[in-house]
Amino acid sequence: MFRIRRVYDDFTPINKEAVKQVQKILRTQFYLLSRKEIAKLPEQLRNPFKYRFRSILFVAEGSKGMVRGFALLLHEPILNFCYLDYISTAKRRMGGGIGGALYDRVREEALHLKTIGVFFECLPDSPELSRDPEIRKQNAARLRFYERYGARPIVNTAYETPLKPGTDNPPYLVYDNLGQDMELHRDTARIIVRAILERKYGDIASPDYIEKVVESFKDDPVKLREPKYIKREVTIQIRRSIPADRRIALLISDQHAIHHVRERGYVESPVRIDTILKELDSADIFQKFKPRRFSERHITAVHDSKFVDYLKKVCASLEPGASVYPYVFPIRNVARPPKDLPVRAGYYCIDTFTPLNRNACMVAKRAVDCALTAASKILEGHRLAYALVRPPGHHAERRSFGGFCYFNSTAIAANYLGKHGKTSILDIDYHHGNGQQNIFYERADVMTISIHGHPSFSYPYFSGFRDEKGIGPGKGYNVNFPLPESFDSKRYREILTEALRRVAGFRPRFLVVALGLDTAKGDPTGSWTLNAKDFEANGRMIGSLHLPTLVVQEGGYGNRVLGVNARNFFMGLWSGAYSI
Ligand SMILES: [Zn+2]
Repeated sequence: MFRIRRVYDDFTPINKEAVKQVQKILRTQFYLLSRKEIAKLPEQLRNPFKYRFRSILFVAEGSKGMVRGFALLLHEPILNFCYLDYISTAKRRMGGGIGGALYDRVREEALHLKTIGVFFECLPDSPELSRDPEIRKQNAARLRFYERYGARPIVNTAYETPLKPGTDNPPYLVYDNLGQDMELHRDTARIIVRAILERKYGDIASPDYIEKVVESFKDDPVKLREPKYIKREVTIQIRRSIPADRRIALLISDQHAIHHVRERGYVESPVRIDTILKELDSADIFQKFKPRRFSERHITAVHDSKFVDYLKKVCASLEPGASVYPYVFPIRNVARPPKDLPVRAGYYCIDTFTPLNRNACMVAKRAVDCALTAASKILEGHRLAYALVRPPGHHAERRSFGGFCYFNSTAIAANYLGKHGKTSILDIDYHHGNGQQNIFYERADVMTISIHGHPSFSYPYFSGFRDEKGIGPGKGYNVNFPLPESFDSKRYREILTEALRRVAGFRPRFLVVALGLDTAKGDPTGSWTLNAKDFEANGRMIGSLHLPTLVVQEGGYGNRVLGVNARNFFMGLWSGAYSI
């Protein structure tokens, strides 16, 4: 078994290892390649435009991250074509369909990028150009493989002119138009061939040589060799379904329904998840995963351990169905925590409407597990992941709960990703993300940004002001955008643009979005009027940052539109993330 995935960079341990293994395959399978050429691969990925082409690396990964093959596709976005620089399996690991699966993925990508097709070199199968029958046989097998896709050598040109006269096996230039019904015009072909030769042989080919080969393209449109091996008209079609590595990893809090506060007006209810899920199922861009269990140390890494212990203890002590609402609020810095557990609730809570009950702690812990599993999917190479969880978490501070929140899943996941590079949290819930602000207020490695209703009229009332910017090393790494009670969606996009500019300026490796859908029109806890189209546009803007992005579900209580808005947000995020 293997999976094909795109490797965007070498920042995470798993990607670093994959790139290293690709370089090893390059060294062993392409022994004529210079060390310099192989060494530049990480830089090619990180800095896509430095080398004129955007490098797109796909690996076929077996168990334990073993790279069993790879393809390096170069994309020229201006001339609008792809050049397949390398496609190779690891030595002695031929077969198993890896080459075919990689080439399928390459074609799918080239089509997704809306290019005119894929060009690549293939060693010749004619006795004049390939004298050794054994090598010729291998070359023929390769050309036969590509012919099944309709990819054949371009003929009547001087492309096969050896760089050094008399050299055996000068390559053909093969063209795969991806089954698109279009011809390749001479002038286009000439520009493309020049770009390929300059990239590939710029160091060793003379300008005269390049000129001569380019000028040799005379047919208009360019002609491909007649099929030599495959007589049937049927060529392999491109799979139209979305490849696994371009899907959003979806983690759903599976035990959430047992946390059900039935008091009147408690809008944070199980139906929220079902409503969202139903709509997501109609968008074929997700791949579901099961949540894993994570150790509690991830929680105590951001929450006070006394607070965590308290929540566990008090919840376990409550009878099923019973709720404790805090009613005494000791001034924490001078008072001792009350001995009696229900009374102590006010020592750790920020409001009077978030109850403790038997299941709250366990279900909140499961939401954390989901968020962490989703974060681990990002580390495993998924570009986008979504933890669809409840209860929400962004109001939970280092040592307090409230606002329907107990553990801050968003902050815990951001802290976990933060071990592998700078992380930015963007909170787009209607209410201020006071939890993350409090947790990371003195840190410079996690930037917290929140767009929310001004605390003068909106929960949590005590934080979210513009002048809260972080302290100590964290100074300048907390940004609040408190907004008025009503304004139009155009204004919202302006603010979001500004927030995204701050994210980009921080140059994070990861983005965590605290997604509140309570910014929607008609939400019982908000006053804004965003509609499905706005969510789509906002999602697209966030996706266009092209960052590995984990989305954690926070608020959103207008059950009639919750699902539709979530679906639109993710459609936008997804198309933004995979735009060029
Ligand atoms: Zn909210």
